Amino acid sequence: MEEKTVVSRNFIEQIIDSDLAEGKYETICTRFPPEPNGYLHIGHAKSILLNYGLAKKYGGKFNLRFDDTNPTKEKTEFVDSIIADVKWLGADFEDRLFFASNYFDQMYEAAVKLIKKGKAFVCDLSAEEIREYRGTLTEPGKESPYRNRSIEENLELFENMKNGMYEDGAKVLRAKIDMASPNINMRDPVIYRVAHMSHHNTGDKWCIYPMYDFAHPIEDAIEGVTHSICTLEFEDHRPLYDWVVREVGYEHPPKQIEFAKLYLTNVVTGKRYIKKLVEEGIVDGWDDPRLVSIAALRRRGFTPESIQMFVDLCGISKSQSSVDYAMLEYCIREDLKMKRPRMMAVLDPVKLVIDNYPEDQIEYLDVELNLENPELGMRKVPFGRELYIEREDFMENPPKKYFRLFPGNEVRLMGAYFVKCVSFEKDEAGKVTEIHCTYDPETKSGSGFTGRKVKGTIHWVAAKTAVRATVRLYENIIDESKGVYNEDGSLNLNPNSLTVLNDCPIEPAFVDAKLIETPPCHAYDSVQFVRQGYFCVDAKDSREDALVFNRIVSLKSSFRLPKAE
Ligand code: ATP
Ligand code: MG
Repeated sequence: MEEKTVVSRNFIEQIIDSDLAEGKYETICTRFPPEPNGYLHIGHAKSILLNYGLAKKYGGKFNLRFDDTNPTKEKTEFVDSIIADVKWLGADFEDRLFFASNYFDQMYEAAVKLIKKGKAFVCDLSAEEIREYRGTLTEPGKESPYRNRSIEENLELFENMKNGMYEDGAKVLRAKIDMASPNINMRDPVIYRVAHMSHHNTGDKWCIYPMYDFAHPIEDAIEGVTHSICTLEFEDHRPLYDWVVREVGYEHPPKQIEFAKLYLTNVVTGKRYIKKLVEEGIVDGWDDPRLVSIAALRRRGFTPESIQMFVDLCGISKSQSSVDYAMLEYCIREDLKMKRPRMMAVLDPVKLVIDNYPEDQIEYLDVELNLENPELGMRKVPFGRELYIEREDFMENPPKKYFRLFPGNEVRLMGAYFVKCVSFEKDEAGKVTEIHCTYDPETKSGSGFTGRKVKGTIHWVAAKTAVRATVRLYENIIDESKGVYNEDGSLNLNPNSLTVLNDCPIEPAFVDAKLIETPPCHAYDSVQFVRQGYFCVDAKDSREDALVFNRIVSLKSSFRLPKAE
């Protein structure tokens, strides 16, 4: 697998290789061009890491450019969140943070240039008429009656547009290309429109704004972008992209390359839907850990490394496909496995009393932080007469092959001693309230005891010294058995997507800086709760004296890495 990624090139790299070999470009420049109209999601991460990764690989440059040419939907809140997300992913744009709106003057000049070349004209048709004149996939379009205005008239009218002399929609500037083109995008597309709107960056300076298909190639060309990578829906727009850079006359024309969007099966990524979930209070903001916005993945406990691994595994292609969320989970497990400590926390506690252990004694056991990675060191785990164990680790009437606690059975308490169940108590409802055991001091973990073996090992937390934490477990926000959408287009929500467990006993080493060198309890820090999964300290709701953990992922997985061909 490793070797394969080193030797084989994806199709974009092959294009870059030949462009460099032919001397088309000396060095490459890529960009990520988000529209600041929402939070970034996992799909954007793919685009960011692809563009940044290429720049890095070829010793080129990577720009972050806000495509903020459309003043209606854009917000500075989104600008800030996008910058934070791109940085967090590790895509270093150095000092190259750009805004398309800073190029409005050059775009205006480019439009004037096209008019002077007889390649653009001011059109008075209404939006509806323009649509009617455009034709269809099978029929050619009809030329606008304003198409043959003189260059002088067009220059004057375009200037009037700029000077605010017309209402919104009264006039547009159109490229003069070919109304009979089989590609509808080439049928005299609108390149500037009148819109009396304030812009987050340029304020009220402009009342005309360029259309995406005209603005984007100019933005790329101004910045010296060589490979303008976008998603497949822009494939049909490429001839127009090339037309603009050619007609405006850029010396080193950028090249547009398309790849397939990343989709996750049964996962909501659409801004419209997420916005609705946020507004209806179904989720706790754009960074709710059940979402796949980058902010949400970060809050859930995903690492930039895990997302990079995921994107690499997905690969780059031209054909649309959908990837299972389990692959993302696989990546975070792989990333955290060796890096993070493993400690004990009990999510559904029941008390266990060791009848033959001294009443007030607490002993501190030395236990490795991560059995697979001794470099992480040791921690002290307090042990005492009263412990908590998981309710499901005890059964009054166990089925066959149940090797955990039941009356008469002996198990190992992880990192401590063997205990044998001697009795238990139940309340009126039949719920077990207390389990009584005896322990065997000879069996202390690490003592080299080989006298006898037990089949079950369970985790535990000493009651007296336990710290209490809130633990949140997540499931997909979508009910997967029914698909993402209902017939009426609404989302099929899973009522069990969030479970909150209060007062879960956890080891004091989680918070006691004296006992552990790198206490994991800072926002976003993650840890494995043995047998339960990987968890992360919630950045919004966790306090030093009131810890909240989000489960990133459980330990079990059905996902298998595909075999290398
Ligand atoms: P959405 O429709 O999901 O909100 P968008 O395309 O409107 O996304 P933009 O801000 O316009 O978002 O996109 C910025 C860049 O991210 C574009 O180059 C776009 O092609 C890319 N991109 C968006 N969604 C995906 C995806 N699912 N997979 C890969 N790249 C994506
Ligand atoms: Mg968009």
